[in-house]
Amino acid sequence: MPADPPLDRRRFLRGTVALWAVGIAGCASNPVSGRGELMLVTPDEERELDRLRAPIQLSADYGAIDDPALVAYVGAVGAAVASTSQRRDLPWSFTPVDALYVNAYAFPAGSVGVTRGMLLELSSEAELAALLGHETGHVNARHAAARMSAGRVARMVVEGAAGLLEVIVPGADDLTDMAYGLGGLGAGLLLARYSREDERQADALGIAYMTAAGYPATGMVDLLGRLRDTSGARPDLVTTLFATHPMSDERYARARREAKRYPSKEPPLHLRERYMEATALLRRRRGAIVEGQKGERALREGRFDDAAIHFALGIRRAPDDYALHLLSARLTLAQKRPAEAIPLAEGAMAIKPGEPQAWQVRGRARYALREYDEALADFARHTEALSGEGSSLFMQGICHERMGDKEAAAAVWRRYLSLDRSSRLADYAARRLEDYGEE
Ligand SMILES: [Zn+2]
Repeated sequence: MPADPPLDRRRFLRGTVALWAVGIAGCASNPVSGRGELMLVTPDEERELDRLRAPIQLSADYGAIDDPALVAYVGAVGAAVASTSQRRDLPWSFTPVDALYVNAYAFPAGSVGVTRGMLLELSSEAELAALLGHETGHVNARHAAARMSAGRVARMVVEGAAGLLEVIVPGADDLTDMAYGLGGLGAGLLLARYSREDERQADALGIAYMTAAGYPATGMVDLLGRLRDTSGARPDLVTTLFATHPMSDERYARARREAKRYPSKEPPLHLRERYMEATALLRRRRGAIVEGQKGERALREGRFDDAAIHFALGIRRAPDDYALHLLSARLTLAQKRPAEAIPLAEGAMAIKPGEPQAWQVRGRARYALREYDEALADFARHTEALSGEGSSLFMQGICHERMGDKEAAAAVWRRYLSLDRSSRLADYAARRLEDYGEE
């Protein structure tokens, strides 16, 4: 995960103007502290951001795990913790997703995602409650809104996620590669990045919520200790987690002190047993997931042959794994072998028929094969499923142009500009509209 590039002055001004355009909520009362504070994003805007962006992130993380009992379990633990919080009336949802890296995140109206990689790291329901309590803490203290107020995420709200493309692939020449940069995200580019102070507050709130829900505070200490160990042993797995939720020894020590304020209880055995039972199917898949994690790392580092071996081993162990199929498809696209990506994407579609990401991946393959008509249908389906998703919409415009249908392309460019007004993709869309007008 690259560090934030410095904002140049023009982008900064644009961001500032965009921020004011969000609408000034002025002084709002913080739900946790009760104190007045300057918030430029209203609770309604938080809900809107959540409604548009959370489904895009969950889909980029390959959607909900195909294990209804585990989905219900994570949802129930999350609901128990959130019901003790100040903002219990938000539309909370806690979704375990198929992504392989270790992460958990919350959108500002209570959509929370936790990856398979993360679930495999935990060993007790108390740790899960601590993790979900921490995310619930960020939402209650409105940290994402405060980050937006600080300008970092505000541009995203206003301009659409495609506004971030410049950050994702600086200097990319090929606009379609830029659009795909967004579509291929799984690294949490839509997520708020919290400060160390935010982390301390979310840990403290998390402990308060989980203990109110009946869990022992030691779950938080165990969770943080475990993640700290993972960052030492396998740092690549937790890059995104710690880029968005900064970790430190100080944070761990503080959580230990904080936990002591609550009646000390060792996590009861039944919490461990219940967690092990709920995650039994997932843990049976650990071997395939570890292969996938190795493959993802190789893919990121450009070691395509290694990635292919790991993904193949993973699929052999778990032939019905949606994420592994799509990762393999994306690898063949990176290797410029689009014809091979199509059966892999279709395999993924058969495994999880409702999940949109496979359509975009097949669309990319068909586009590379110059089957623009078919590619267009896939991109349209992806856009339909995830309103507010800019990359497939942009690709629809490109497909129309390739097929010489300027009228249809113009309609797409106008729609695209309603999502995103200041990225290189937006500049392209605006320029094309001008070009059409002049002809
Ligand atoms: Zn955090």
